[in-house]
Amino acid sequence: MLTGKNIVITGGSRGIGKAIAMECAKNNANLAIIATNNSEAAKNTIEELKAFKTNVKLYLCDVRNPEQVEGAAQEILADFGKIDVLVNNAGITRDNLLPSLSIMDINDVIDVNLKGCMLVTRAFIRNFVKNRSGNIINISSVVGLMGNKGQTNYAASKAGIIGFTKSVAKEYGRKNIRCNAIAPGYIATEMTAVLDEAMTAEMKKQIPLSRLGNPEDVAKLALFLASDASGYITGEVIKVDGGMYV
Ligand code: NDP
Repeated sequence: MLTGKNIVITGGSRGIGKAIAMECAKNNANLAIIATNNSEAAKNTIEELKAFKTNVKLYLCDVRNPEQVEGAAQEILADFGKIDVLVNNAGITRDNLLPSLSIMDINDVIDVNLKGCMLVTRAFIRNFVKNRSGNIINISSVVGLMGNKGQTNYAASKAGIIGFTKSVAKEYGRKNIRCNAIAPGYIATEMTAVLDEAMTAEMKKQIPLSRLGNPEDVAKLALFLASDASGYITGEVIKVDGGMYV
């Protein structure tokens, strides 16, 4: 389904990003994985991806840092020649009630989730324009659509991604560049593993399908958006949330 496509995935070392990478590799895509460090998780992910016999490489880069982002993009373009799909998935949480959020909690979440998505997209947009073809998939969240107590910083960053996605879709549609967002609900990864049992049980009550999602549930949609099967879809925000938003 993705044979010959070169795909960049930020935060592809673990969780949802890893599941997207696995789904893409299974479908014969070449992968440039971005993570902050060469952790055991990142090393294992690269090894698992290589089993699919596609071209896979890890790039270390903090998506908050414009110089690092530009440097990684140049390196990736030199290695792969061109990029077909960019998945902006890197993200963090620093949850707390508004008065208890430190300036760092606010800055870090906005910088990684929103500014990071913008910087990485900016770094690859010329490549897409030059190729007269491009496909950007941004990982937002249902809380960017519905809000959530204790997550004002995170929800604002994810809502920002939606505005960014729609703007890129409008600005670059005529250059044959698509830009869509995925809004996952409550997905079982390291990010949500920190929540206590009572909170998880409370969340489940809000989900009509009565279960947490798996990273693979999100990856299946990312595969569709990365493929030409979704060629006439742009500017959309698609939820994968077990009905949580309904
Ligand atoms: P994880 O915590 O499991 O993984 C986060 C990934 O982001 C890691 O690969 C990490 O790399 C990378 N990352 C974090 N900070 C940076 C940075 N500054 N620069 C580059 N990479 C970075 O998270 P999830 O898989 O759960 O989440 C993935 C995305 O999905 C996030 O954007 C999240 O907001 C979103 N999401 C998640 C939901 C969930 O319920 N889990 C629900 C809705 C949206 P490293 O290994 O180097 O730290």
